[in-house]
Amino acid sequence: MTWLIRKCPVDGTYTFQEKCPKCNTPTIVPHPPRFSPEDKYVKYRIEAKKGIKLNC
Ligand SMILES: [Zn+2]
Repeated sequence: MTWLIRKCPVDGTYTFQEKCPKCNTPTIVPHPPRFSPEDKYVKYRIEAKKGIKLNC
């Protein structure tokens, strides 16, 4: 199973198509298909420094 959800940069519509079904704009992949777990830890570190807890 691949995770290739795409996003329209114009109206923010999420789609699996290469073009937005609403405005026909070529869509982008908002995240790389293969996510890095290290990024998550970096994010936690940064947030820990700031003392803010992420709500995502
Ligand atoms: Zn669109």
